[in-house]
Amino acid sequence: MNKKFYVTTPIYYINDIPHIGHTCTTIAADILARMHRQLGDDVFFLTGTDEHGQKVAECAQKEGLDVQVYCDKIAPTFINAWKELNISNDFFIRTTDPRHEKVVQELLQKIYDKGDVYKAKYEGWYCIGCEKFLTETDLVEKHCPLHPPEKTVQKSEENWFFKLSKYAPQLIEILEKKNYIFPGGKRNEVVAKLKSGVNDISLSRENVSWGIPLPWDKTQTSYVWFDALINYYSATQFLEDKAGFWPADLHLLGKEILWFHTVIWQAMLLSAEISIPEKTYTHSFYMVDGQKMSKSLGNVISPKQLTELFGVDGARYLIARSFPSENDSDVGIERFKERYNADLANNLGNLVSRVSKLADKLRITNYELRVDDKFQKLVDELKFDEAISWIFEEYIDKSNNRLNEVAPWKLEVADPKRIEVLTECSQNIRKAAYYLKPIMPNTCEKIEKCFEGEIKAPESGLFPRIG
Ligand SMILES: [Zn+2]
Repeated sequence: MNKKFYVTTPIYYINDIPHIGHTCTTIAADILARMHRQLGDDVFFLTGTDEHGQKVAECAQKEGLDVQVYCDKIAPTFINAWKELNISNDFFIRTTDPRHEKVVQELLQKIYDKGDVYKAKYEGWYCIGCEKFLTETDLVEKHCPLHPPEKTVQKSEENWFFKLSKYAPQLIEILEKKNYIFPGGKRNEVVAKLKSGVNDISLSRENVSWGIPLPWDKTQTSYVWFDALINYYSATQFLEDKAGFWPADLHLLGKEILWFHTVIWQAMLLSAEISIPEKTYTHSFYMVDGQKMSKSLGNVISPKQLTELFGVDGARYLIARSFPSENDSDVGIERFKERYNADLANNLGNLVSRVSKLADKLRITNYELRVDDKFQKLVDELKFDEAISWIFEEYIDKSNNRLNEVAPWKLEVADPKRIEVLTECSQNIRKAAYYLKPIMPNTCEKIEKCFEGEIKAPESGLFPRIG
C-alpha cells in the first residue's frame, strides 16, 4: 500500500476573481501534490469554489441573473485560471453540487442528533463581506476593517447555534498532545484564544435562502461557513475512489480563516465523531510594493498578468520563491522581473544552454533519482524559498563554478578533463530539473529530455530575458 497524501486549498468565494492571494495557496498545494506524487504517494489534491451565502445572491441580483446561473458563469474563471497555471488538482468541488449538499445535511444532522445544537436569538454587528458576526474587538471605527463600512450591518434573528464552547477543552487537550496547527506561532495564538473563553456560534441563517436547508428546520439554511468547511470531507464521501483519503493530511489556508479551520471545523468533526485533519498550514499575505493589496488601490496582481509576462513556469517559480509563509511577503512586478532574470534567464537558463551546447552528443548514463529528505522536509514545511535556494546551491551554482574553473570550451573535445566536467554539470542539471519539476513541470520535462542519453540543446531558449 502506498502512503496517501490528501491536500486541500480553501474553496474560493465565487464573487471574487483570482488574484495572487488565491494563486499562491493553489500553487503551494500543487507543488506539494506533485512532490508527493514523485515520492510515490497516492495523492488527492482538492480545490474548488464556495458558492452559497447572501453575498453571492446579492451579486447575482445585481447582474439580473438567477443565482445558480451566476455561479455557473463565474466558477469557470477559477477552473480556467488553474488550468492555465498547470495546476494538477484531482477534483474541483463546487458547494452547489447536490452531492456535496447531501453530505452537508448528513453531517449537520449528526451534530443535531448529538444534542450540540440549540435555538437562540442573535443580535449583533454582521459583516456581509465576511459573512460573519463581528465582536466588539473585531470592529474598527464601528465597521469591519476588511470591508467598506456599509457592509457592516446590525442584525437580529433567531438562529440555530452550535455548542462550540463545549469542545474548547477537548481541542486544547488535542493541541497539547499533538499540534495540528502550523506554523507554531499560530498554534499559540489559537490556544490562547481557546483558553480565554469561546462563544457558541450560530450555524444557520433565517433570511438567507441561497444556502443548504437544515434537515430539521427547513425555514433556515446552513451558515455558509459550515457548508463550505464540509467540502473537504464531502469530496471524500461522494467521490467513490477517494473514500480512503479522509482525514486530510494538510489543509492550506490564509491567516484570515485560521479560526474557522483550526477550531470551528475541528469542533464540528468532533461533534459528528469524524476524525480531524492531520495538519493545517496558515500562510501570510502578499503586500504589493509595500502596500496592502486591494481593489481600491488598484494594485491587485492577477495570475494572468504573471503568466503573460513570465510564462506559466516562470509565474509558478516566482510565486513559490516569494511565497508568504510565516511573514507577509512584499512583491511587485519590477522585483518579479529582476528575480526572473537573475534566477531563471541568467542562471538556470544560461547554464542549460551553455552545457547542452558544449556537451552536444555526449552520452550520460541515466540513474535513478530520489527526493532528498532535506528537500522534502523544506517543501512539506512550505519553505519553498529555502528549498529553491538549496537546489541552486547544490546543483546550479556548483556547476557554474566548475565551468568557470575548468573552462571546457578551451579544451579539445576528446580531452578527459572536458568530458568529466561536462558530465558532472549535465548530471547536476538533470538533478536540478528533477527537484524543480513540481515547481516548473513543463520546463523541467524539456530539460530532462535534453539531458537523457545523448545530450542535445533545447529547441528554444527556456527563459527569454525580460527587459
Ligand atoms: Zn468583513
